[in-house]
Amino acid sequence: MSLETGLSGKVAIVTGGARGIGRAIVETLAREGVTVNFFYKGNVEAALAVEQACQAFSGQAHAMQVDVTDPAACARAVEDVYDRCERIDVLVNNAGIVRDNLLAIMEDDEISSVLQTNLGGVFNTVRPVIPFMMSQRAGRIINLSSVAGVKGGRGQANYAASKGAVDALTRALAVELSSRRILVNAVAPGVIETEMSQQVRDLADDEVKSRILLKRYGQAQEVANAVTFLASDLATYITGQILYVDGGFKMA
Ligand code: NDP
Repeated sequence: MSLETGLSGKVAIVTGGARGIGRAIVETLAREGVTVNFFYKGNVEAALAVEQACQAFSGQAHAMQVDVTDPAACARAVEDVYDRCERIDVLVNNAGIVRDNLLAIMEDDEISSVLQTNLGGVFNTVRPVIPFMMSQRAGRIINLSSVAGVKGGRGQANYAASKGAVDALTRALAVELSSRRILVNAVAPGVIETEMSQQVRDLADDEVKSRILLKRYGQAQEVANAVTFLASDLATYITGQILYVDGGFKMA
């Protein structure tokens, strides 16, 4: 028996889809036949590259410049997706930033920008998407959390707080939306080889790797695989869960 994802013909929104993990998610969903609308903040070149990469395998990916910290822009973009695609099956909240610093010397902006993007961004996209999913009586919401949400890291008070809150929001939404058959889960990566983790990998390569059970960093594709699983028909009985894709980092 072959495993069927059931994703072909579905419509998705992926935030932060132009680079890193988000790009891998966009391309993987598009390969499964999903029409993917992805938000990016400012890197137009990267966004166009993702559209072109998807066109090369006849995948449907549509880039939209939407800042997830702007609630009105998110609401407009969600309406636009619904007007064009006539449904929204999957929302992946992937956009995120880090602004690491020791808390004693952390700037106000380093706190507010991380909370507004990593946590506020999830509220800003989920709220306008929910009514559409409720009327469809089906939907999948997948939030990108982090091991940092449960495992403290030096210089990451702002980021850890934002991701711990994303975990809590994921569980609360799973409860609230279950009666409408909307499943809400999070994927929590460990250290993945993207631009975001470059500084940490440069500063403490051996030390970080020694704390990962599998003794290597993860790849964006390995996270995208978990997101795709949770979006698919292979995950019809999973909600309110945090799936760690971390090579055992959380356990070490
Ligand atoms: P990257 O820094 O490589 O990419 C981040 C993406 O988010 C970019 O496409 C960027 O857009 C987008 N983005 C940032 N701010 C906004 C905003 N305000 N509005 C819209 N888009 C925005 O990050 P990763 O791919 O590494 O991370 C993806 C997710 O995974 C994040 O939520 C992160 O916290 C989480 N994660 C990553 C880990 C890692 O080791 N890499 C570990 C644990 C969790 P643009 O291209 O326009 O700048």
